[in-house]
Amino acid sequence: MNKPPIAIAIHGGAGVLTPGLLSPQDEDAIHEALRQAIDAGHRILAAGGTSLDAVEACVVSLEECSWFNAGKGAVFTADGIHEMDAAIMNGADRSAGAIAGAHYVRNPIRGARAVMEHSDHVMLAGEGADRFLREQNQPQVANDWFDTELRRRQWQGNRSSSTAPSLEPSHADHHIEETAVNNNSGHKFGTVGAVALDSHGHVAAATSTGGITNKRYSRIGDTPIIGAGTWADDRSAAISATGHGEYFMRAVVGHDIAARMRFAGRDLHRACDEVVHQELKTLGGQGGVIAVSPNGKTQLSFNTPGMYRAWRDDYGQLHTAIYAEDDRVHG
Ligand code: ASP
Repeated sequence: MNKPPIAIAIHGGAGVLTPGLLSPQDEDAIHEALRQAIDAGHRILAAGGTSLDAVEACVVSLEECSWFNAGKGAVFTADGIHEMDAAIMNGADRSAGAIAGAHYVRNPIRGARAVMEHSDHVMLAGEGADRFLREQNQPQVANDWFDTELRRRQWQGNRSSSTAPSLEPSHADHHIEETAVNNNSGHKFGTVGAVALDSHGHVAAATSTGGITNKRYSRIGDTPIIGAGTWADDRSAAISATGHGEYFMRAVVGHDIAARMRFAGRDLHRACDEVVHQELKTLGGQGGVIAVSPNGKTQLSFNTPGMYRAWRDDYGQLHTAIYAEDDRVHG
């Protein structure tokens, strides 16, 4: 008898990523971080564990890695602090949890899961979220624990250039954030996410971010908005998005992909491509999605020059990639 399919994919942000921007050493480090993160989830799936545990494990691994704009390494707000957004969703019953503008939880994705499993709510924000997560005994850190020198430089660069916004990433701080999408207002992006299908036929999605550099007024993006940046439903697919959140919210990206599959009979590939390359593009939204469906298909679609990503193909082979034409196959 054939084994039931499992599937998994992760992303670490989409943006203006073109070959030559990163040093070969930095490229290798990112490929390795992606490999480790997807392995953390794949091990769980291969042992018969749940997609929910798998996506959480992937995202925790990416949050702990300072290369990415989530958890350690999150971007700075205009006030010089970090405000974290995260969401997780279980396709089996569409239970979901999210936090927005959280300050002290070491692993925001675990915080989102605590909201899902230990509260009557779907989303908690700001100081209320902080209080709930403390009461839940979620591991806490001081807000400046999330600081990194790289992010501070990017923030300072962003502030000093905000009167003369540039479309081109500067070479001075060429890491993940500056290689991520750069829009007209000089804002930059970068986020992490995971989607998985387990051997029980259930899909799940998880997304976590520090948001956009120099954000103010308690700005919240698409990441913690169920249906926009994060969505999972066993009747269609699990989706995690990254990109310019304001557009992803207006296009309700995750739910739109799922609805096209359920109501218009699209397959995963076409549904993702239609939303990313047509709907979002028409609005002017840059970024991408990763998705898996209950029949074992995996799709990665983005309308930017690159997206940090890793996936297992139909034969179980592991791939990591940064640029559009990139594909590093791991033995
Ligand atoms: N979507 C995230 C936000 O707008 C940023 C990103 O994906 O890089 O907060």
